[in-house]
Amino acid sequence: MPKHEPVLLKNMLQPGYTGSLAEYERAGGYQALKKVVGKVAPADVTAMVIKSGLRGRGGAGFPTGVKWGFLPKDYQGPKYLCCNADESEPGTFKDRQLMERDPHQVLEGIALACYAIGSETAYIYIRGEFVLGSRILDKAVAEARAAGYLGRNILGRGINLDIWVHRGAGAYICGEETALLESLEGKRGLPRVKPPFPATSGLYGKPTVINNVETLANLPHIVNRGPEWFASIGSPPKSAGTRIFCVSGHVKRPGNYEVPMGVTCRELIFEHAGGMRGDKPLKAFIPGGASAPFLTPDHLDVKLDFESVAQAGSMLGSGGVTVMEEGTDMVWAALRLMEFFHHESCGKCSPCREGSSWLVQTLRRILAKRGRMEDLETLVQLCNNIAGRTVCAFGDAEVAPILSTLKYWRPEYEALIREAEAQRAHELPMAAARH
Ligand code: SF4
Repeated sequence: MPKHEPVLLKNMLQPGYTGSLAEYERAGGYQALKKVVGKVAPADVTAMVIKSGLRGRGGAGFPTGVKWGFLPKDYQGPKYLCCNADESEPGTFKDRQLMERDPHQVLEGIALACYAIGSETAYIYIRGEFVLGSRILDKAVAEARAAGYLGRNILGRGINLDIWVHRGAGAYICGEETALLESLEGKRGLPRVKPPFPATSGLYGKPTVINNVETLANLPHIVNRGPEWFASIGSPPKSAGTRIFCVSGHVKRPGNYEVPMGVTCRELIFEHAGGMRGDKPLKAFIPGGASAPFLTPDHLDVKLDFESVAQAGSMLGSGGVTVMEEGTDMVWAALRLMEFFHHESCGKCSPCREGSSWLVQTLRRILAKRGRMEDLETLVQLCNNIAGRTVCAFGDAEVAPILSTLKYWRPEYEALIREAEAQRAHELPMAAARH
């Protein structure tokens, strides 16, 4: 039995739960929507979410209700809600489970958010590869519409809401909120320069809120059980609620684990995920998806909340915890992540587009034992010329694996380079002898 009461995963932990509308309703589904639509003022729903302390679960961790409050007041035209379901961060697979196993929980969350911000149209922008998830959501939307939870005059209370499922084409950058909007508008998914921010000029230039799947799935529970209940879980006031952590890598039981924010990395890895595969010592872990800097065994007692992980020099990010055992080659690990980032750079800004290419080439050279000590300085300089100098946060993200592996495992880089130097020293006299 889990030590903590699951909230978002609760239904699907029941044997035989299929996520159909009937089963979701039997589990108390759509009660939150019935409780507020036409009965509680939209501003009061926003106030409830602010009071709960819910922060975005997609990566940035911005307070959800505060974000909604940035929409212009008294705006009369259309407003949009976009559910960011473009889950593409390596090591992160929680939104997929929420959508595939309990889709109505996500739809009810979207409907509540739309009611709070006064939007009649929501889009679920789902990662192109999630074919199953998009089919399940399409079916769930049809079920909800037939039951009067979506469509015109929902619940007979004079409110309209349509939800459309839109499949992306498999570009990592489309998880960045403004690239998502560009893609949804039918254009190439390139991030926009901000400001203006989506709250004032988002989809089709209209006020828009973009929230992550897990963030939205929390809303029915906050409405049903009250903001005080939510705010009492985890590490309030700044990291309230539970979080689904996706544990992957060299652990015995990889998977999604929903725990209150603030459990330690040690508890998550060694209790929930069963500890290290083959009981090998842990060497490294990433606490928040591929864009979060690596941490070491010295950080196992760091609490998994926004502030504690940031203080430890990393970030909670998307909640993807990737664990690596003793014996993992950290230069290789940095290269694998860097190759991913280089492949996914959208190419809009030269520090990211060109810099990622040079980073990959330099790492490959070091790993192939053709590096030089000055390559390490070059790596740091390249990273410093990318981070903070790009249109979107991708630039900061892509340098994290390199800077953090250089910080903690620099001797591994140096050992490869020393081998290269020894090889060159051996080859030079041989070449001289041939002439
Ligand atoms: S940082 Fe990279 S991904 Fe972001 S806009 Fe610039 S080129 Fe594109």
